[in-house]
Amino acid sequence: MCGIVAYIGPTEAYPIILKGLKRLEYRGYDSSGVALLNDGLKVYKKKGKVAELEESLIGVNLHAHAGIGHTRWATHGEPSDRNAHPHQSANGKLAMIHNGIIENYTQLKNELQKKGYVFKSDTDTEVLLNFIEDIQKNNQCGLEEAVRIALRRVVGAYVIVLLDEDNPDTIIAARKGSPLVIGVGKGEHFLASDASPIIEYTKEVVYVNDYELAILKSDELILKNLGNEKITPFIQKLDVELAAIEKGGYDHFMLKEIFEQPDTIFDCLRGRLDVNNATITMAGVQNNIGH
Ligand code: GLU
Repeated sequence: MCGIVAYIGPTEAYPIILKGLKRLEYRGYDSSGVALLNDGLKVYKKKGKVAELEESLIGVNLHAHAGIGHTRWATHGEPSDRNAHPHQSANGKLAMIHNGIIENYTQLKNELQKKGYVFKSDTDTEVLLNFIEDIQKNNQCGLEEAVRIALRRVVGAYVIVLLDEDNPDTIIAARKGSPLVIGVGKGEHFLASDASPIIEYTKEVVYVNDYELAILKSDELILKNLGNEKITPFIQKLDVELAAIEKGGYDHFMLKEIFEQPDTIFDCLRGRLDVNNATITMAGVQNNIGH
């Protein structure tokens, strides 16, 4: 299960995102990456542990007040630097992280390839991202509108989070079928797959529901449905401690792991098992029989 962390506000984004990714490591992953907005969009990603990403960035100027970070659990394309998230759109202006799968990505990819799009990764994520960029171009609309249009055509389960070089004061996120929590701070907002990366900064959270879009600025949170109607965010107070969140409400990690087994198996098969066509696709697994 992949992990998502994002931050927008007055504090340096990278240390918050990095710490958040480490908190989400327990979910399992094969690569990690961050995108930061400061005087342009910068994307850094790496196969392996978050610590390896961190090490590769020593000495790099990572100053930014808005950023997104991801730990990937590959479903489409082998675990590699190139397939790691965030992905950057063809014109380089958008960066996106994604948790889940886009089931109709082959069809969307074919359409985009006919229009001349060239893909740098094997992921379904990059297809959705360029689909959004293409809608923006064709409809001459902003990112929010393009995301809404794109998601009406997308089949699958997702959380997506986007940064836009042309709108450095905004992060856009949407959810269907994968968890997403917003942390509401003082003049700052956090986003994550669960509350563990957020809880040390704020106890006020909003759980985003399916088919909702979140538009985050440092000091403003707007929730909308895919029909562009505003939804009043329901702010909840977290009354649990970090250790309890990490243990998912169970008294012991062992109990948590036992009870999570059905979900773990489901997540492992997500995007790999195609029941209708009775096929299993194992990205990154080579057929070495006979070698
Ligand atoms: N389907 C995407 C990929 O393979 C996202 C996987 C995830 O949830 O980490 O890159």
